[in-house]
Parts: sequence; C-alpha cells; structure tokens
Amino acid sequence: MEHEHFLDAVSLTKNYSENKESGVNSITISIPEGKITAVVGESGSGKSTLLKLLYGLLTPDEGEVFFKGELVIGPIQKLIPGHDKMKMVTQHTDDLNWFATVWQNVSSLLSNTDLDYKQTETEKALKQLRVYDLRDQRVADLSGGEKQRVAIAKALITHPEVLFLDEPFNQVDASFREGLQQNIREIVKETGLTVVLVSHDPSEVLSMADELIVLKSGEIVESGKPEDLYEQPKMLYTAQILAHCSVLTKEEAQVCGISAERGTIAVNPEYIEVVVSRWGKKEWTVKQVLFKGFFEELLIEKDIARLRVLNLEKGKYPEGSKINIKINKHLEYGQWKK
Ligand code: ADP
Ligand code: MG
Repeated sequence: MEHEHFLDAVSLTKNYSENKESGVNSITISIPEGKITAVVGESGSGKSTLLKLLYGLLTPDEGEVFFKGELVIGPIQKLIPGHDKMKMVTQHTDDLNWFATVWQNVSSLLSNTDLDYKQTETEKALKQLRVYDLRDQRVADLSGGEKQRVAIAKALITHPEVLFLDEPFNQVDASFREGLQQNIREIVKETGLTVVLVSHDPSEVLSMADELIVLKSGEIVESGKPEDLYEQPKMLYTAQILAHCSVLTKEEAQVCGISAERGTIAVNPEYIEVVVSRWGKKEWTVKQVLFKGFFEELLIEKDIARLRVLNLEKGKYPEGSKINIKINKHLEYGQWKK
C-alpha cells in the first residue's frame, strides 16, 4: 500500500558550527514510496548531511523526520543509530569484512535460529545483485564494482523499506556502473523499495531518478521530475549540474546572435546545430574535439564567445576547421538567479 506520507522531512536544520553554510537549513521534503529520488548539488551543498538526517544518523538542530508518520529519532536517543527499516550504502563499503567471503558477509545479518531461511535469503540477495557466483571469494579479492554489489546485497538482506545510496558508484568503472544502475531500478520495480540516491554524475541521476532534489548551500533550490528540471531548470545552478551547458554573459550571447535581456544565457550542447551550407559564413572555429564514444563534443569559438556543441557526425569537424551554427534553444537567467 502506498502511504501518502512515507518519508517526510519538516523544516530540518543541522549546522555543524555557527556557520549557516555548513550542513542543511530548513529542509522540507516528501520522499515518495517505491521510487528513486536523487539528491544533487555541488560538493559541500549538504547532500550527505540530508541523507544522514533522514536515516537517523544525525540528530537535527531543528525540525523532524517522519517515517510513515512516526518520528525518526537520532543517535542522541537511540543506541544503534539508523532507523531499523532503512539502510545506507556509501562509496566506502566499510560495512564489509574484507577477509570474510561474500556469502559470510551478506548472511551475517541474519540469525542462526532459522538456517533454511538464512540460506534461501542469502542466495536470493546474492542472485538479485548478480554476485552469487562470487559467493566463496573473499571481499578483499573483488573489484570495486563487485564490492559495491556485495555491500548493497548485504544492505538489502534484512528487507529495509528505504535504501540510501551516497555516491555509491564513485569507485565503480563506467561499464560496471550502468549494469548496477539498471539492476537497482529493477529491484525498485520488483520489490517496491524506496531509494534515495546522492550522485554528482548527471547522466546517472537523469537515467535513474524518478524525482530530483537540487541542493545548494544546504537549501533546496528546486525539485521535480528529471525531464522537467533538465528541459526547464528554474535556476542556472540546476542547468549547470544537469547539462553541460555553455554559460554566456550578455556580451558573449550577443556574439551568438542572442539578445539577453536579463543577464545570463545557458545553451545546452544539443541545442546547437552545425549548419552545412556552402554560402553561409563560417565564423566559428573548432578549438577542441572531445571524443565521447558514440558522439563528440566540439568546443567552438567566435570572438569572445565559446560554446560546447553536440556532434554525432564524428570526425567531420576536426580541430581548426571553420563551421557555421544555428542555436535552436536557449535559457535565460537573471543575475539574481545564480
Ligand atoms: P555534500 O555531501 O553535499 O558534499 P555535506 O553534507 O557532506 O555535503 O557537507 C555540507 C557542509 O557541511 C560542508 O560545508 C561540510 O564542510 C560541512 N560538514 C559536513 N560534515 C561536517 C562535520 N562533521 N563537521 C563540520 N562540518 C561538516
Ligand atoms: Mg557527500
């Protein structure tokens, strides 16, 4: 059954010092059940602090966290910190015993009173995270990605209702990462698990999250569906976090043929088209070509303006070549909206 109020934070404030910039300030959010919510923001914006408050690893200075209507109590009132129905996995995998096997690690949280249950549940968790074949290996001998899978299997074996993932894939190779991301999405779909994910990788956030929360200096600046925040970010800050946009001053925008009334212009690489015409003036110079696999990003320059352009026709516009472009869309921000 879906709860209207599943995991709620009400006016949460936690400052580590007098400095209001440290920690989080007056955060009110509602985390939806059975979905993946991603928290994004620059380093130091309070993402980890928010997760620890939601989980009950930190006691807020002010405000409250409610899980299904019940107050989540922090470490000051609770001997073993962290809510019993929640689990957290970070990039450090420090919950794992490196000298024990994968099986031992994952099964260790279950009691020996029902060995059949322990056996089947461990097997299930290992298979779910695709590490069953590694069951007899020591954790120390695994790759970063495999360790991370084991850490998540261990977190899920007690059937928590909420899984917090704090930049869990940082140590994981790009190729491995995608499989793990898909796997987590599947688990969420199949089991109704609620995931709160912190990540600074825009592609990860956009492909995984159902909901996004954008944090800046400990405050929520924007939240919503990934598609909406990507297409129409209210804040330049959000645009910069989610897209590799070029940010232009009024003067630079003018060079691009855009008249900025409010101050700052953002243009995503995919908003720019290379125009192939024999007659048009080729005023832009390709300064750099960044190989991205199935596409390229061109860094182009004209006078004082520099732009990042998505190019699917690899190799067509080498460094030093001259091109003509068309900017199909841009976003405008006032200077007060930094
Ligand atoms: P993020 O996870 O977004 O990088 P954090 O939540 O870790 O941000 O930190 C937010 C701010 O609080 C940062 O300025 C950080 O330096 C400060 N901070 C975090 N933890 C502590 C701590 N234990 N003591 C003092 N300051 C801290
Ligand atoms: Mg952090």
